[in-house]
Amino acid sequence: MPCGGGLSSGARLRLILDNRASVVLCTPTYALHLARFAREQGIRLDASTPGYSVRSLIVAGEPGGSIPATRARIEEAWNARVFDHSGMTEIGPLAIECSANPGGLHILEDDYFAEVLDTKTGNVAAAGQPGELVLTNLGRLGSPLLRYRTGDLVRVDPRPCPCGRKWLRLDGGILGRTDDMIAIRGNNFLSFRPGERAAPVCLRLWSTGLRSIARPLSPSCVSRLSRCPAASATWHRELRTRSAMS
Ligand SMILES: [Zn+2]
Repeated sequence: MPCGGGLSSGARLRLILDNRASVVLCTPTYALHLARFAREQGIRLDASTPGYSVRSLIVAGEPGGSIPATRARIEEAWNARVFDHSGMTEIGPLAIECSANPGGLHILEDDYFAEVLDTKTGNVAAAGQPGELVLTNLGRLGSPLLRYRTGDLVRVDPRPCPCGRKWLRLDGGILGRTDDMIAIRGNNFLSFRPGERAAPVCLRLWSTGLRSIARPLSPSCVSRLSRCPAASATWHRELRTRSAMS
C-alpha cells in the first residue's frame, strides 16, 4: 500500500493501524521520525494499541539498517524486527538482509553481476577493504546497465553466511558514498555514518585544515579524528583546542 506523496505522518500512522499493516517500508530516518510522532500523539507502537500489527520494518535509502545502534533504536521504538534493504531507481532492488545474519546485505546475484573495486585503481578491492559497488543487471532487458558505478562504498564479507546463501554478502551494508571518502596522508576515511552527523563537515574541513572549522566538533568526531594516525602533532594540538571549544 503506497502512502508517500502528500500524506501527513498522522495519516500514514492511521493507515498502518486501520489496515493492520504487518510490514512497513521506509527510510531509517523516517522510521524514527514516525515513532517519535506516535509517541508525541500518545500512541504506543505495541500490542496495547488497537490495530497495531507491525512485526517488521524494511528500511532502505540510507545506511542505518545495517548499523547496530540505529537499527536497535528503530526496533525498540517499533517493537519490531528491522531488515536492511538496498535498491536504486536506475537499476532496481539489488540486496536483502537475511534473518540469520543481521547487519549486512546479500546481493541478489541471480539478477546482478556484482564487483567491488578499489576506487583508485579500478582493480578488485583487497580483502576486507572498502570499495565501490559496480553492478551489471542481468534481468532488466528494457534498462540494461553494464558495470554501472553505483558510487556506494561496500566491504565484502568473505565468511560463509549461516543462512546458507552463496550470494555475495556486504558486511555492514552500504558503508557510505565514494564522494564521502577522503584521503588524509594516504589513509582512507569514510566521513559518513548515521549517528555521527557532525562528522562529514568536520572531516571535510579537516582535509583543508582545522583552522577553517568555525563550529564545535561533536565528541564522536573528536574521538575519530584524534585516532587518525596520519595527523601531525600540530593537528592534534589544534584538535585539542577545538575540542575544548565544544
Ligand atoms: Zn545470509
